[in-house]
Amino acid sequence: MSSQAGAKVGLVELPYNAISSATQGGLGGTCVIRGCVPKKLLVYGASFEAEFRDAVGFGWDHGEKMPTFSWERLISAKTDEIERLNGIYGRLLDNAGVEKFEGSGKVVGPHEVELALSDGTKKTVTAKTVLLAPGGRAWYPDIPGADLGVTSDEALAFETKPDRVLVVGGGYIAVEFAGIFAGLGSDVKIAYRADLPLRGFDEEVRSTVAANLEGRGIEVMSGVNPTAISKNADGSLTATFDAGEPVTVDCVMWATGRVPNTDRPDLGLKEVGVELDAKGAVKVDEYSRTTVPSIYAVGDVTNRVNLTPVALMEGMAFKDTVVLGKPTKPDYENIPSAVFCQPPVATVGMTEAQALEAGLTCDVYTSTFTPMKISLAGRVEKAFMKLIVDVETDKVVGCHMVGPDSAEIMQGLGIALKCGATKKQFDSTVGIHPSSAEEFVTMREATRRVSPKVAAKV
Ligand code: NDP
Repeated sequence: MSSQAGAKVGLVELPYNAISSATQGGLGGTCVIRGCVPKKLLVYGASFEAEFRDAVGFGWDHGEKMPTFSWERLISAKTDEIERLNGIYGRLLDNAGVEKFEGSGKVVGPHEVELALSDGTKKTVTAKTVLLAPGGRAWYPDIPGADLGVTSDEALAFETKPDRVLVVGGGYIAVEFAGIFAGLGSDVKIAYRADLPLRGFDEEVRSTVAANLEGRGIEVMSGVNPTAISKNADGSLTATFDAGEPVTVDCVMWATGRVPNTDRPDLGLKEVGVELDAKGAVKVDEYSRTTVPSIYAVGDVTNRVNLTPVALMEGMAFKDTVVLGKPTKPDYENIPSAVFCQPPVATVGMTEAQALEAGLTCDVYTSTFTPMKISLAGRVEKAFMKLIVDVETDKVVGCHMVGPDSAEIMQGLGIALKCGATKKQFDSTVGIHPSSAEEFVTMREATRRVSPKVAAKV
């Protein structure tokens, strides 16, 4: 975008490597190569299992046996698709007139970057502005045997499917991968230290997700921390915890968070005066400018809101500010997001707790129902929807959903919240019938009214 807007742009990126987490490179970055995109392909792959079962209730019969599944075929098709996308990113850069360098970059001055290229040569390039966007990488606690486990990087490229998996963590990646492995037939346990998964999400969403994990056959171990992992003679792994019994599995997958990529490879930031925060993230102002005026940073390396579309927004604001000379701040209000556990979660705006913290008195509308798509299947899995409405302004300040297609539904509601839609406007919107989405415009009676005072009493 910067190049198309008139800047002369060079870009340095490590080489593409589908498998190894040792090199985190490739055009497209984490999202395309070892994050959102391959993950979503595996989520799709895993979602068929429940659908095959549900189909029986709708008159289909596949005999005694479920259709067979080949992990190898799914992974190979996924890798082909990622390679295709990686190629497209390269061509997009070429078409935009960007000069590509394959290798690593180290900032050696406010306007100078030293390149260590894949062909073994070194080169120093100069630029009026340097933009850092090296992303982040998986992190896990330093307990005995921790390295016997893997992260999502390796899990997305396993050659064979592990039969028994322990996922450690309760965040986005943990619940998504627990759903993937369970849907594809592994025996899955998920262990997290809190009472519920998905810290930061609305409490009712969190409890619905916990129930759904169990409903999909995943064993939930809450309130535990792993203390050690050891390898057994048969190659299996045993994980011990600070509470409860040890578990023996074929694979331990760490999903305990990610850290900014400022030190591996060394970007040389400290030496040039780019300050980092306590978590190692690049400190930036509202325009993504670092403590060195000619150096900017966007995306996970700044640890603001670590989502691909947010990094894109920050990048576009950078282009407007620096290349077009129109100072533009990224807007972090009402960022919709989704978690692709099964069924998925989607949300935009405030949780009930955040609304109370902001001092709002709110009407809370909730709806729990059996999605029509499984009504004849005999499967028990509830969809959950929630609207939070500021009583004083009638504005809808939060929308939350757990259920089929929630991500697709929430994108439109994100626009509504961005426009400051009121509950009255939601109510005057005609529903699409029959759909789950219509529930968001037909919830008439508040489930409860909450106010900071009442919350304080509780
Ligand atoms: P999250 O921050 O979402 O979750 C980390 C999990 O690890 C939490 O459950 C946390 O527990 C736990 N944890 C942290 N430290 C420890 C520890 N020392 N011991 C035990 N448990 C620990 O990180 P993820 O790795 O899942 O994802 C990283 C980010 O990537 C997400 O926050 C999100 O921004 C992004 N992402 C977005 C996706 C999407 O949009 N669909 C998909 C995947 C990732 P606790 O909650 O108790 O702190």
